[in-house]
Amino acid sequence: MSITIIGAGLGGLTLARILHVNGIAATVYEAEASPTARTQGGLLDVHEHNGQPALAAAGLLEQFRDLVLQGREALRVLAPDGTVLLDEPDDGTGTRPEIQRADLRRLLLDSLPEGTVRWGHKVTGVRAVGQGRHEVSFADGSSIVTDLLVGADGAWSRVRPLVSESTPDYVGTTFVETYLFDADTRHPAATKAVGDGALMAPVPGKGIQAHRESGDTLHTYVSLSVAQDWFDGIDLTDTAAATARIAREFHGWAPELTALITDTDTAPVLRPLFALPIGHRWARVPRVTLLGDAAHLSPPNGEGANLALLDAADLAHALVRHPDNPEAALTEYEQILFARSAEEADEAARDFERCFGASTPESLLALLTGAE
Ligand SMILES: Cc1cc2nc3c(=O)[nH]c(=O)nc-3n(C[C@H](O)[C@H](O)[C@H](O)COP(=O)(O)OP(=O)(O)OC[C@H]3O[C@@H](n4cnc5c(N)ncnc54)[C@H](O)[C@@H]3O)c2cc1C
Repeated sequence: MSITIIGAGLGGLTLARILHVNGIAATVYEAEASPTARTQGGLLDVHEHNGQPALAAAGLLEQFRDLVLQGREALRVLAPDGTVLLDEPDDGTGTRPEIQRADLRRLLLDSLPEGTVRWGHKVTGVRAVGQGRHEVSFADGSSIVTDLLVGADGAWSRVRPLVSESTPDYVGTTFVETYLFDADTRHPAATKAVGDGALMAPVPGKGIQAHRESGDTLHTYVSLSVAQDWFDGIDLTDTAAATARIAREFHGWAPELTALITDTDTAPVLRPLFALPIGHRWARVPRVTLLGDAAHLSPPNGEGANLALLDAADLAHALVRHPDNPEAALTEYEQILFARSAEEADEAARDFERCFGASTPESLLALLTGAE
């Protein structure tokens, strides 16, 4: 049985890897031209109850631990004037080790047999061709037919329409991404504000969040709860003017916080946030399924990548348990997936509201200190 996975994100690669360690071959088709075609985003904390067991199933937990950035579980919450509202140092007892997403993806890629990932294969269409088989068409005009198809192709999945008419909706908030390099020497005040790990400084409708990443880099997500067209008049290629406009929304905030916007070493990048409906599910469609964001895209609450890893492990194990009966495997997997995803999507929406909603930062502090 040929198994085709669309998308070489963390979910698709973990699925391919766990199948591989269980002696099952799969091919991953990825739109990007190469593993380094795009920067891979920031730090991920990989959790004990979802991401880590999946990496254990992939036989990669030890290598993962070697790549963890020490001390990055520290967390600070600041008020707009720079007052420290919460300061939790990383005392080494945390259970959410932080890793650069690019390092985790590289670990997974290196663990797969040569040729498993076919780069530069952007899926443009999928259709059923009978007996549960599907034809997958690519932007370069080529196509393949597969016995089992898995959509691990993220928010704008091209596989999803085979099973569901749902599409993600804008959640009302956009993140603006900036980077400050050589932070210790060039941006000492901002570095001190961020601390050793993560910084959050939200008020209702806006906020400045940052992480201290590897290589002496401060990676910031500025959040603005505005309509998407609010950004229409801003020329993002003019970094100084664009960041000055965005920083205007933070007028009166401490300069060490606004410096995370205005001192950026890269052009700001917009990350409008989208989500699928909470409880997104579908009726069983022969020999096709989804995992990760393709199945349950939610507002970011630190769980999305972890859930993609866990989905991949659950799907792989179901396929291993039913080597001759893919329908039984997919039915079993989707039962677990739907129940978990509904709960997690609901939690993500509530966490997002606590972090960025009308009652922040009090609701955020209550969440972080367990007072809630
Ligand atoms: C700003 C932000 C911060 C986040 N922070 C965290 C965090 O701290 N912790 C956490 O756990 N989660 C976080 N998340 C969520 C996390 O990034 C996702 O949930 C996770 O990446 C989902 O993994 P995935 O494998 O399902 O999809 P993706 O990582 O999106 O991978 C999908 C892959 O499919 C490929 N692809 C897409 N379309 C096609 C196509 N047509 N043909 C072929 N290939 C295609 C893409 O190029 C990509 O490689 C964050 C999300 C955002 C937006």
